[in-house]
Amino acid sequence: MTVEDILKKLVAFPVLGGESNLAIIHWIKEYVESFGVEANLLYNDQKDKASLHCRIGPEMDDGVILSGHTDVVPVEGQEWNTGPFVLTDKGDGKLYGRGSCDMKGFIACCLAALPEMVKADLKRPIYFAFSYDEEIGCLAGPELARTFNTYYTETPVYAIIGEPSMMEPIVGQKGIYILETYVNGSAGHSSRIKQEVSAIHESMRLILWLENKMNQLISDQRLDDRFQPPHSTIHIGMVHGGIAPNVIADKAQFYWDLRTIPMDNVETIVSEFEAFCRKREEELQRAFPGFSIKTIENHPPVPHLDTKVEADVVDFIKKISGNSKLNTVAYASEVGQFANEGFQSVICGPGSIAQAHRPNEFIAKEQLEKGVAMLQKLIHELSK
Ligand SMILES: [Zn+2]
Repeated sequence: MTVEDILKKLVAFPVLGGESNLAIIHWIKEYVESFGVEANLLYNDQKDKASLHCRIGPEMDDGVILSGHTDVVPVEGQEWNTGPFVLTDKGDGKLYGRGSCDMKGFIACCLAALPEMVKADLKRPIYFAFSYDEEIGCLAGPELARTFNTYYTETPVYAIIGEPSMMEPIVGQKGIYILETYVNGSAGHSSRIKQEVSAIHESMRLILWLENKMNQLISDQRLDDRFQPPHSTIHIGMVHGGIAPNVIADKAQFYWDLRTIPMDNVETIVSEFEAFCRKREEELQRAFPGFSIKTIENHPPVPHLDTKVEADVVDFIKKISGNSKLNTVAYASEVGQFANEGFQSVICGPGSIAQAHRPNEFIAKEQLEKGVAMLQKLIHELSK
């Protein structure tokens, strides 16, 4: 099958983040096993989703992991000119469809290169690591990355995450944390604002604390020029609370995200915030004993990536991708999870992130060809 045939097949599985991916993962498993490679499935507790991992080549150290996710983001409310789950060639050099770029394109490249991988005389192995639920918080990544230290007796050295990067190596990613804060105050007539505790008023104070914290990090020169913007960001994206202008709100909540540069520690920022919350609780419980503030993680943290330019994987990826320009990104991916397991990790894959998550998502055919060409160079390097 050509890379386009495979991509067409993959796009036709409309697997959204959070949904069962068994149909697509079984199709991939069958495809991989038709080339004599044993593919392993790593199920979730409910057994309705699975990641796939396999080794191609010898049971030797220093192999390379190729990682991708099988889920995509929804198409609801988006204006598509073609069926989102039918890969469409409009003759303009692009292939349209949900996931064509983010990131079934890379998985298609891996599968298209598989026959050559199997035929080659590999001295070091290649692994596939295909996950689920990446788009709703990289939920399957940690266990899948860990498997490469527990299931296999040999130790891989590099991980290449094929998120769309126009085939340019990405060596840095901000850490991403999404949090929810719930404030519980006391209800009452608006005229009694000095006697009651408004959850909205208190939420505003907490939000301002967070904004000041971000500004303080900037003025403390906590900057990393590899990133745009070069500082950690704290952003409140949703606020709910209250029922009427003349009613004191007893409940309010806000959702926020923290995107941290590698030098900043998310635990420190969150624990300073928690300390401020406890101080406010102590003060306000004098007026209303039921007053409380609670912050929870919306989903597990996505760790940052901080691959140094001197790392061996940087030379390696420059060589096989043919691109020497190094970039950083602020979007979430599984790359930090592989780095946390000790594998030198980079992002490098076909297509542009600008096309991801949008209506009429596409991948340029030329990008797919470059993706396959990179994997052919990978085979060549590992056959030495
Ligand atoms: Zn992605």
